[in-house]
Amino acid sequence: MTPFKVHLIRSGNVSDEFYDEVASLLRQFPGPMNFVTDANYEKFLLEEDEIQEETTSRSRFFKADEVHYEEMESLQEFHLSKDYSYPREIRVASWESLFGICRRYRKKNKLSPDERIVLLTELNNEHNWFSAADTNGENNFFVHSDQWEFFLDSENRFPVAYLIATGILKKMVFNSYTSLNMAIHHSPKGCISDFCENKREIILKMRTADICSDCMQAINNKGINRDLLSQCFQIMEHIRTQLLFRERFEMLQLPSRIAITPGREPITFIDMGNSQLRLAPLEKAVFILFLKNPEGLYFNRLSEHREQLQEIYMTVGHNLTLANLNNTLDDVTNPMENRLSEIVSKMRNKFSRHVGEEMAEHYAIDGQRGERKKIKLDRSLVVWDDSAYQAE
Ligand SMILES: [Zn+2]
Repeated sequence: MTPFKVHLIRSGNVSDEFYDEVASLLRQFPGPMNFVTDANYEKFLLEEDEIQEETTSRSRFFKADEVHYEEMESLQEFHLSKDYSYPREIRVASWESLFGICRRYRKKNKLSPDERIVLLTELNNEHNWFSAADTNGENNFFVHSDQWEFFLDSENRFPVAYLIATGILKKMVFNSYTSLNMAIHHSPKGCISDFCENKREIILKMRTADICSDCMQAINNKGINRDLLSQCFQIMEHIRTQLLFRERFEMLQLPSRIAITPGREPITFIDMGNSQLRLAPLEKAVFILFLKNPEGLYFNRLSEHREQLQEIYMTVGHNLTLANLNNTLDDVTNPMENRLSEIVSKMRNKFSRHVGEEMAEHYAIDGQRGERKKIKLDRSLVVWDDSAYQAE
């Protein structure tokens, strides 16, 4: 099968970090889908009159419309018995407006019909779907990138990546809304085709990461390429692993093991499907320094450990000249400078975004003011991936 590009684009409030996280998650799994971000990191905006400010209700917020399914039997009453929290004010765009961004992008960049465009948007949409394919039949999609905390206990990149990969697959199998209507499951069975009218049901299909036998039959009938199917399954499986690990962490409070490899290699979270987190060289050096000093270090006495920090820094693949290296180490170890605190707080953010705030507590450098700062992680969960890193 000829590989094709999947252009990930975004609307106004989707951050650079999130945009990169989604792209790098998807790129971990090579295959015919080739995920690319916009070369200029552009953010596409809607006109203010294209966005409706709405006050929503609980039952409205958790319910997806089935406007495209008028011909079907009416569904069971929609019930939401639990007292879930939800945002009161939401900003809503029409499907036409959202797909309009994709259509203009396609035209402007002269993309072939085979190339996919996926708009990540923080906006709610008129039919309150998590994601949808363009109603005009083009290979355009949008995925809602926000408000996932009301549905799942995970970082937003996981459901978003799931919906991107399975959305592309579903469009290939059921290429029109008419055939999608025929195939969709109104009672959830943990399949990519679950409709999730009750939007809280979405967790089921992500935890199951499966495709039911009816849908597999449809996939076979369409002759969907095996490599594409395998790429999609790998992405689904990765996300499932992440979600289950989070749930287990909630119960057991056991964080993931991490592997530390020399050079510019990212930190690997072994028990989370080997997910990878990249730290800047200096961040990585500070992280390793604190890992190697489990009893903790005083921020204002870091100069006493300058030699050890330098040694570690030499192993993490920086590209500084000796003079710059000295300056950098001076800054970091100078108690009058704020550099160390900045690095530490940046790292905490990165860990939080990667594994969630609660689990991040185990990897962050922390401690009371004026006392030793340390990393809480049980050191038996650290795998030093090279002899260069034998613990002293
Ligand atoms: Zn199915």
